[in-house]
Amino acid sequence: MPGFELFGDKERKELSDVLGNGVLMRYGFDGMRNGHWKAKELEQALEEKLQVNHAQLVSSGTAAVSVALASAGIGAGDEVIMPTFTFVASFEAIMMLGAIPILVDIDDSLTLDPKAVEEAITDKTKAIMPVHMCGSMANLDALQAICKRHDLLLIEDSSQATGATYKGKPLGSIGDLGCLSLDFVKIITAGEGGAVLTNNEKFYRHADHYSDHGHDHIGNDRGAETHPFLGYNFRISELHAAVGLAQLRRLDEFVAIQKKNYTIIREALSTIPEVTFRAVPEGGEESYSFLNFFLPDLEISRQVIQAFKENGIDACWNYYDNSWHYIRKWEHLKELKTLYPLSAEVKAELKYLESKTFEQSDHYIGRNISCLIKLSWTEEEVLERANKMAKAITSVL
Ligand SMILES: *Cc1c(COP(=O)(O)O)cnc(C)c1O
Repeated sequence: MPGFELFGDKERKELSDVLGNGVLMRYGFDGMRNGHWKAKELEQALEEKLQVNHAQLVSSGTAAVSVALASAGIGAGDEVIMPTFTFVASFEAIMMLGAIPILVDIDDSLTLDPKAVEEAITDKTKAIMPVHMCGSMANLDALQAICKRHDLLLIEDSSQATGATYKGKPLGSIGDLGCLSLDFVKIITAGEGGAVLTNNEKFYRHADHYSDHGHDHIGNDRGAETHPFLGYNFRISELHAAVGLAQLRRLDEFVAIQKKNYTIIREALSTIPEVTFRAVPEGGEESYSFLNFFLPDLEISRQVIQAFKENGIDACWNYYDNSWHYIRKWEHLKELKTLYPLSAEVKAELKYLESKTFEQSDHYIGRNISCLIKLSWTEEEVLERANKMAKAITSVL
């Protein structure tokens, strides 16, 4: 997945435009910038590429989620439904606004189980936030239907699935709001950065103002702008946007390389009857950033990971014991270890995490192995890797 693997002249060229005039900020300084507006250009390019009316760049994917929620008016005491398998950013971004993350089970798609979602809805629920993990997606038709029935917002976190599509539409463009990450290890990188996507004009205006201290961005004198509401600073810099612009233009190239590498490995593993693959919702096309497969049980998965290590196969994980991506090891969340006092309401609402168990998620995550698909492998390297993986799995079974 990581676009940084192919960082090169195209990225350097965009960066040198910015270094040439020294305007590292995305707003203002019109006279100095020689016509270079990298953040604006990247926003337009994202709108075109991801088929959405508005894109607002921000400083990170985590910021994108917070800004998206804030733009839709979600805050103190509101419940947001999110999956147990994601990145810690998901609950961080919700909690930053004083809202309550409600964690629910995933299914064999490794994303939100629509049934578990529906069971978790209360009169405080405001939004459902599927996270399209590891290059594939949640069942968006099912989740959209639930949102309609209960009058909820659908907010997609497609940080790990830029370049994937559902029924022909790019992920991130389908919900009321979509969030992207452009951090260093994502399929396209800006170094750090993120984007909020939406077709809703009002949400976009909110995101634009909120991510820049509430500035209204009217006229061309920043000092004279007014603040229709309170905001914050989640701006991206021109340097980051410049790299992101070069990388977005290469998205199709990256997806094509990943698809080729993914297919070789998948075909090799398909010959093993005990190996099954992650379910992709009907009409979905992955970004091929990861190959995800299931083994018969947790113990076999752990042994296979060990066999991979012994055979020099890197970048494969079983997330059951992983502290970044799965609820089991999020002790800091379950015990609410914060630097500063939380509101009494948030504390009370999150008590459920002390005792709640997620057997269905454990069942899928325990048996899952997730392998990163790299862009820099040669065909020989992929073939050798595929063979070694198949042998290592067979040796354990
Ligand atoms: C990377 C990631 C984020 C956060 O992005 P940052 O840019 O690192 O803040 C959010 N959600 C998921 C699923 C991610 O993988």
